[in-house]
Amino acid sequence: MASFDLIFLGGGPAGYTGAIRAAQLGLNTAIIDKREVLGGTCLNIGCIPSKALLVSSDHVHFAHHQAARHGLKFEQIAVDLNQMMKRKEEVVRQLTQGLEFLMKKNKITRLSGVGQVVGPGKVILTKKDGSQEELQAKHVVLATGSVPAELPEIVIDREVVVTSDEALSFDKVPADLLVIGAGAIGLELGSVWSRLGSNVTVIEFLPRIAATFDPDLTQALQKGLEAEGLNFHLDTSVTGVRVDQGRASVEAVSKGRQKLAFAADKVLVAVGRRPFFDNAVAKDLGLKVTDRGRVATDSLYRTSVPGLYAIGDIIDGPMLAHKGEDEGVACIERIAGKAGHVNYEAIPNVIYTNPEVAGAGLTEELAKQNGIPIRVGKFPFAANGRALANDQSQGFAKILADPKTDKLLGAQIIGFGASELIAEAVTVLEFGGSAEDLGRTVHAHPTMSEALKEAALGVHNQAFSIPPR
Ligand SMILES: Cc1cc2nc3c(=O)[nH]c(=O)nc-3n(C[C@H](O)[C@H](O)[C@H](O)COP(=O)(O)OP(=O)(O)OC[C@H]3O[C@@H](n4cnc5c(N)ncnc54)[C@H](O)[C@@H]3O)c2cc1C
Repeated sequence: MASFDLIFLGGGPAGYTGAIRAAQLGLNTAIIDKREVLGGTCLNIGCIPSKALLVSSDHVHFAHHQAARHGLKFEQIAVDLNQMMKRKEEVVRQLTQGLEFLMKKNKITRLSGVGQVVGPGKVILTKKDGSQEELQAKHVVLATGSVPAELPEIVIDREVVVTSDEALSFDKVPADLLVIGAGAIGLELGSVWSRLGSNVTVIEFLPRIAATFDPDLTQALQKGLEAEGLNFHLDTSVTGVRVDQGRASVEAVSKGRQKLAFAADKVLVAVGRRPFFDNAVAKDLGLKVTDRGRVATDSLYRTSVPGLYAIGDIIDGPMLAHKGEDEGVACIERIAGKAGHVNYEAIPNVIYTNPEVAGAGLTEELAKQNGIPIRVGKFPFAANGRALANDQSQGFAKILADPKTDKLLGAQIIGFGASELIAEAVTVLEFGGSAEDLGRTVHAHPTMSEALKEAALGVHNQAFSIPPR
């Protein structure tokens, strides 16, 4: 029987990052995934392919709507969807092959098949050919991720009514695409297909899109997406979807009880993700689950089963690749007797649409709801030289600080490059720095990052490029 210090069940960002950290610490490590390649949801059918399509479709949008402003004229703009998908697949292939290489170089044993924990430190691996192997380890880490959540009243046939898995690989641009859910996945994939020519309608149950961000950002985001061509029905729930001869009829009801009807070639159900650990742990081990259906863990990622840990999308917290990666590292460092830890107050959250939105830490809305005093500094991209030069003057940066101590409590950014700009605010949050620290840090000129510096200065009404309040 093969024996290891550690076995990871699941080779997504949480599992592969944890496995590499374990190998760095000298632990004899194995990683199991039922996919042919490592990378999990994120690399294969999530973060990476969606970003590849977002950038390709953004080029299309630029060619159609912005190029002329720069003095560029195209005789003809044609989209070769097949080539766009090929490039996306090549990016995925490069990254997933890179992971296999990293596993080899770190001397991590790579096992393919479905794993099941059958006892403390005992895993049965069922390979593709049906053969089974029993494996043993001092510690087992469950990192089996998540799958698209479904709605009880909607049958997903994966042809007309689809999840993000299929919406990343349509073989032609749907004329009418209906997206259910205005979270990150729905908005990103809705943007991709809208830019490529689909008539996209987004239905959202909540009164606003991207509801984890402050209303001033989500309003600006909705405006930006509407300008790109997306249509929104908020405060609206889908009550039924019927498919007939390859086309869907969708019924919905608005909060005012008004009945609405839509027809679409594709319906994308993007209502979140469900933690997935079906059959990953034998029933008789009594794995404890939270009331939200996630694997219950303590602060050291220990589950109720001795020697079994859990990280990533299957445990509490935002379902984000970087959150899982950092949990992988912290979990292993704790097992190895080190002081690994994740700062859940400083996890960036990004939507990669146009405009992009990014945030970390406290929001203004949460501060108000919880009676937390804050001081806010806001700076518009329209007053930033680089943003104007880039033709990206829509958007703003917003900084929240403690009125007494000036400690940075949160940051939100909407506009070009928000996904990259947020990293600076996260660093200041992580180091417990103040708005003044950020405002007094020298930033290269001209850069978009100066908008963040000026927003931080704005906390004390000391921004240079906008008039005083
Ligand atoms: C369209 C889309 C876009 C996204 N974009 C972003 C983004 O921009 N940024 C971001 O941070 N997050 C994004 N996410 C979310 C991100 O993909 C997840 O948060 C992340 O992949 C979770 O990592 P994980 O390691 O916990 O699980 P996963 O990546 O889901 O990996 C789990 C792995 O475990 C394997 N597995 C499951 N059960 C077993 C078993 N019994 N035996 C063997 N193997 C098993 C699965 O095959 C899978 O490969 C996106 C998701 C989607 C769908």
